[in-house]
Amino acid sequence: MKIVKSVCEVKEYVKELRRKEKNIGFVPTMGYLHAGHLSLVRESVRRCDYTVVSIFVNPTQFAPNEDFNKYPRNIQSDIEILEKEGVDLIFIPGDGEMYPEGYQTYVEVKNLQDRLCGGSRPNFFKGVCTIVLKLFNIVTPDISFFGQKDAQQVVILKKMVCDLNLDVKIEALPIIREKSGLALSSRNEYLDKKQKKAALCLSRSLIRAREMVETGEKNVALVLKSMKTEIESEPLARIDYIEIVDSESLQPVNQINDKMLIAVAVFINNVRLIDNIIV
Ligand code: AMP
Repeated sequence: MKIVKSVCEVKEYVKELRRKEKNIGFVPTMGYLHAGHLSLVRESVRRCDYTVVSIFVNPTQFAPNEDFNKYPRNIQSDIEILEKEGVDLIFIPGDGEMYPEGYQTYVEVKNLQDRLCGGSRPNFFKGVCTIVLKLFNIVTPDISFFGQKDAQQVVILKKMVCDLNLDVKIEALPIIREKSGLALSSRNEYLDKKQKKAALCLSRSLIRAREMVETGEKNVALVLKSMKTEIESEPLARIDYIEIVDSESLQPVNQINDKMLIAVAVFINNVRLIDNIIV
C-alpha cells in the first residue's frame, strides 16, 4: 500500500493505472475511520481494480466557530486499518498541498446547498464541493463511494458531477449503525456514555416517522410533530432541524409520498449529529 502526501505523486500513480486500463475506486474521508467508512472501502475494493482513500480534514468546510482543530484524528491507526482492507493508495495531503498560499477557487451548487445542513452551516457545502472536485481531478476515479449518512452531500455531489460533466459515478451506500441504532460518526467520539444514550433520540425519531408512514399516515405536519416530541423528550437534545423533503430536489413535501428523505440534525450538548432515512 502506498502512502502519498503530494498531489503530483498521486497523479503519476493514477496515470500509470490508466495506461494499464485499470479502473479506480475512490473513498474520500476525514479519517478517524469507523465501520461506516469501511463499508465504503470494502465496496470499492470489491468492485474496482484499484482503491484510493483520501484522509483530509478539510478546513474550508468548517466555520470559524466549529470543531476543525479538535476534530478527532488518528492517522496511524487509519493507515493500519486501510492496509488490512487491501487499499492500494492512501492520499494524506497537508492543508498547504490542497490550499496553497493564494488559493482562490471554489465550487458551489446553488439552491441545493442552502437547505437542511446548509441552512445551519452556510459555507459547508461550498467547502465540500470544492475539496471533492479537487480530489476527483487528482485521483480521476471511475466510481467514488459516499455514505447515505450524509444524504444531502450525495444529492449535491451528484448534481455537481452532472452539471460539470465529470466522468465519475457517485455511489451511495447505506448508513452503518451501532446495534443501539446510533449512526456511526467520527463525532460520536465527543460523547460520553450518557450523551451517547441521549443521541439515540435521533434514530428513535426516524423509526417513529417510518412507522407512521408505513401505517398510512399522509400528514407531514403530524409526522414532524411526533418526531419533535420524541427528540424533545430527551433533555440533553436541542433540535437544529427536522425535515421531510423530496429526496432529489430537497424541497419540503406537502404530502407523504414515495421518494422522501426524512432528515434530522440535533445537538447533544454542543455536538451536532445528523441522521436520516429514505422512505
Ligand atoms: P467523513 O470522514 O465523516 O467525511 O465521512 C467520509 C464518508 O464516510 C462520507 O461519504 C460519509 O457519508 C461516510 N460515512 C460516515 N459515517 C457513515 C456511516 N455511519 N455509514 C455509512 N457511511 C458513513
